[in-house]
Amino acid sequence: MQTLLDSLRHIVGSAHVYTDGDLSAWERDWRKRARGKALAVVRPASTDEVAQIVKACAVFRSRQPDSGVSLVPQGGNTGLVVGATPDDSGRQIVLSLQRMSALRHIDADNLTMTVEAGCVLQNAQQGAEESNLLLPLSMASEGSCTIGGNLACNAGGTQVLRYGNTRDLCLGLEVVNAQGEVWHGLSGLRKDNTGYDLRDLFIGSEGTLGVITAATLKLYPQPAARLTAWAALPSLEHAVRLLGLAQRQLGAGLTGFEVMGQFALSLVAKHFAQLRLPPYPHAPYCVLLENSDPLSEAHARQQFERLLETALEQGCITDAVVAESLSQARQFWHIRESIPLAQPLEGLNIKHDISVPVSGIAEFVRQTDALLQQAIAGVRLVNFGHLGDGNLHYNVQAPQDMDAAAFLARHEEQVNTLVFDSVTRFKGSISAEHGVGSLKVGQLEKYKSPVALDMMRAIKRALDPQNLMNPGRVVRL
Ligand SMILES: Cc1cc2nc3c(=O)[nH]c(=O)nc-3n(C[C@H](O)[C@H](O)[C@H](O)COP(=O)(O)OP(=O)(O)OC[C@H]3O[C@@H](n4cnc5c(N)ncnc54)[C@H](O)[C@@H]3O)c2cc1C
Repeated sequence: MQTLLDSLRHIVGSAHVYTDGDLSAWERDWRKRARGKALAVVRPASTDEVAQIVKACAVFRSRQPDSGVSLVPQGGNTGLVVGATPDDSGRQIVLSLQRMSALRHIDADNLTMTVEAGCVLQNAQQGAEESNLLLPLSMASEGSCTIGGNLACNAGGTQVLRYGNTRDLCLGLEVVNAQGEVWHGLSGLRKDNTGYDLRDLFIGSEGTLGVITAATLKLYPQPAARLTAWAALPSLEHAVRLLGLAQRQLGAGLTGFEVMGQFALSLVAKHFAQLRLPPYPHAPYCVLLENSDPLSEAHARQQFERLLETALEQGCITDAVVAESLSQARQFWHIRESIPLAQPLEGLNIKHDISVPVSGIAEFVRQTDALLQQAIAGVRLVNFGHLGDGNLHYNVQAPQDMDAAAFLARHEEQVNTLVFDSVTRFKGSISAEHGVGSLKVGQLEKYKSPVALDMMRAIKRALDPQNLMNPGRVVRL
């Protein structure tokens, strides 16, 4: 191992190879559900250094197959499925992309930007904004997560409804493969039918096929105005009706549609008392809508008011408020984004990021809520998410009087089986956003088609025959 560590120090400089001291920032996952032990944390500054690191590890591994040395790519370490943290073998090298954070180029005519993988999402957004353009990828972790991590997980966020997942925003990639070769695929093309789409293979591969070092992303013109409204609703069925109405009346202007169950909001009120929630504590559900308008704020407001009036007349909503200012709009979004932060303050919980067709979502929740209540009396359901994408964060919190750790130990498997069986009945997915990581590998084996799993394993074996890249994540060989 010492010779390998010496090679890594030679490649990136001793100051960028950490082997001792407090490495918890890289060794522990964001939710603090797992803590591993890394052989080293290595922080390259360029694609060439990444390539040299991977090559050095591949050569070492081929000479000493029993060493078990492997690589775990890591960006902001905000992933929620323990995919970026090393295991406890002490043989995994965390390859941190944090130093590769440059915004390489903006092509305003082509509406693209090229950024390095370690660029924090918020910095990429700001870079686009400085050119009066929009990078429409947004999520509560945007101050820490990186473009490479977003691509590796095919992250979603709050604007998928209009602009799609990270996959839909990516035109080209630069990748270091498992042999340490660089694939220069930074195309800015919107059309290219020259064979298999390698870009799409690496997007969503969660670091198991290679290291993404840079990407060319789509940009959009900044809208002239962006307005946010908060509506109170009697049920989830009404939220689905409101979504249809908003899609018909606002068309492409509808850029956000987030649903929030009342219990989820009550956790924000309890743990972040300084936040002023709109006054609908008795509405079973609230919805946050965003209308982006290419013309003007006045036009956006007029359209929004017309929509909300119709929704009120049709009984889809019981009340609504349109944010009066940018700062009020930010407050609304801040409340929504505080839900996942309020949850851990209430105690450990079982997280799901499932999707089902929008048409089945209300019935899915009704049936699954009932099954869970039947199985575990008093269980609390934290239900919120991107309704427009059919994607719910359907999280399960211990009954009020039960210790959260004991709840997890006793009921996690039972709850997962119950929720994922229900998702399967509704023809949904057990992971709509966060990916598989190491947390859901077993569940993927249970719920994904065996034919699909075999094809995934064949791809993994073909591209990474030594199983050097993030082994044990996504698919087990
Ligand atoms: C508060 C909060 C809110 C969130 N909201 C959302 C949301 O709305 N939508 C959503 O989809 N996710 C959300 N997430 C999850 C997470 O932020 C995203 O998955 C994000 O895309 C991960 O980026 P990261 O840089 O932190 O990746 P990491 O956590 O560092 O890594 C995630 C995975 O990608 C791999 N990886 C990282 N960088 C690379 C690279 N350069 N090349 C190859 N593989 C790499 C890792 O090995 C790991 O498997 C949220 C997380 C938090 C904490």
